[in-house]
Order: sequence, then structure tokens, then C-alpha cells
Amino acid sequence: MTPGNYIRKRREAAGLTVDELALRLETIPAVSAMTRAQWLTMMETDVAPISISAINAIVSFISLDETVLDALALIRAGVALSSPQICIECGCSEHDPCCDEDGKPTCWWISEELCSCCVPLAGQAIAQ
Ligand SMILES: [Zn+2]
Ligand SMILES: [Zn+2]
Repeated sequence: MTPGNYIRKRREAAGLTVDELALRLETIPAVSAMTRAQWLTMMETDVAPISISAINAIVSFISLDETVLDALALIRAGVALSSPQICIECGCSEHDPCCDEDGKPTCWWISEELCSCCVPLAGQAIAQ
């Protein structure tokens, strides 16, 4: 998984489209929401670099694990690190699990790269 891909998964898990997230973000200098949406898309496709200020802006609206993001960025840069465990569907990770309305973690690992929230039938089968 690339850093951009990870951000896209977490945005989708937060239920936001690129446009919706772009509308919520404030940038300095101020640019139009359309420009922000283009910039988000470039980040999510790993075309534009992911800056710390971008992450700081985004984490107010979507939940991200910055440790995971750092590791993915290092791996992409060619550093020999083992990949952090990330759900391939929703992008949740150990320090950033899927949560219920009270913020309690609700998911666990079904397999190496799938969490229980992304396998509803498996989750139910175990819960019952
Ligand atoms: Zn998941
Ligand atoms: Zn999860």
C-alpha cells in the first residue's frame, strides 16, 4: 500500500468524497475548493508529495495513523522496513481501528490484511 492509497482508504472509511474533504480543509494561502480537490487527488495517487501541513489539516476530518503513514512513506522511498499491518479494505490499523459511536475499537484482524468490520459476515459469525 502506498501513502496516497492509505490516505484514500482512510478518507473513504470516513465517508467523505474528495470534494467533501476539500470543502472542509483550509489552506494557506487560500485556494479554491476545486484546487484543493485536485491537490488531494494528486496526493492520493502519490503524484504530489504528502506534506506535514497537509496531514495536519486532514487529520481533523479523517482518522489516520501517522506512524503507519510514515512507515509507508519510508518504504516507498526505498527504506527496507516491514510493512505495517493495514486493512486492505478500510485502511484501519493497530493504532487506528474501526470504532463504534463511543469511540471503542470494534474490529480485529480476520486475516493479515482484513479487519472484521470489512468482513461483516465473518464478524457476525464470531459475535453470535
Ligand atoms: Zn477494514
Ligand atoms: Zn477495522
